[in-house]
Amino acid sequence: MSRSVFITGGNRGIGLAVAKAFAADGDRVAVTHRGEGRPEGLPEALLGIRADVAVPGEVEHALKQAETAHGPVEVVVANAGITRDGPMLRMSDEAFDEVIRTNLTGTFVTVRAAVRSMLAERRGRVVLLSSALGFLGSPGQTNYAASKTGLLGLARSLVWEIGDRGITVNVVAPGIIDTGMTAALSARRMEELMRMTPLGRPGSVDEVVAAVRFLAGESAGYITGAVLPVSGGIGMGM
Ligand code: NDP
Repeated sequence: MSRSVFITGGNRGIGLAVAKAFAADGDRVAVTHRGEGRPEGLPEALLGIRADVAVPGEVEHALKQAETAHGPVEVVVANAGITRDGPMLRMSDEAFDEVIRTNLTGTFVTVRAAVRSMLAERRGRVVLLSSALGFLGSPGQTNYAASKTGLLGLARSLVWEIGDRGITVNVVAPGIIDTGMTAALSARRMEELMRMTPLGRPGSVDEVVAAVRFLAGESAGYITGAVLPVSGGIGMGM
């Protein structure tokens, strides 16, 4: 059955790959992007809507547009995220706030808007993109780790609030995935991270897509409040 799907940060990386997979399954998919105009290379099948999750009101407006086009949102993937790394003692308030505002507050406003529609329909799937490294702790990433571990508390509290409405809320925790985000890492840090990864290689976006698709699917109906690592073993046991 075709579903209305809303994904933040869907113009590249993991978000785009997830969006393409849902569209290939026959879902009606809307993705947000920050730049002006339609992002280059965005497949025709995807509805692109401009929204910055860190700007109050924008994601709510985007969600309304998606629902006008596709009907009430049934699957929301809160994927938009950034890093602004640096040692905490030299980290500015602004670098800390920007990461929290995007990764944590941005997820809160996205999910709050989407769940309002799901409540009326009494069904829905919420999938949040966290980080295995966040749970492990990572030097230079106090802001990022705080934002990504915060998502777990958000998800599990929400599970208690809406579990009886047929809506599940789950967290995917990728390890090191081959995208623009990890391309920014130095070769030395990448080697270090690969030594910490039992499978000894970065993951692909498709390996993350598989987890998101599963948690958003019919067969995951009794799974909620879970953290699914897609990490090659880094941070296992979290
Ligand atoms: P990318 O950097 O490749 O893509 C990030 C996406 O988020 C882009 O579409 C970007 O838009 C969007 N975005 C960033 N800030 C905002 C904002 N304020 N409002 C709206 N959209 C925004 O990252 P990945 O695809 O690798 O990561 C996707 C998610 O997975 C993130 O939450 C990340 O933290 C998480 N993750 C990634 C891992 C990895 O190894 N790659 C590991 C663990 C977690 P724009 O193009 O405009 O910048």
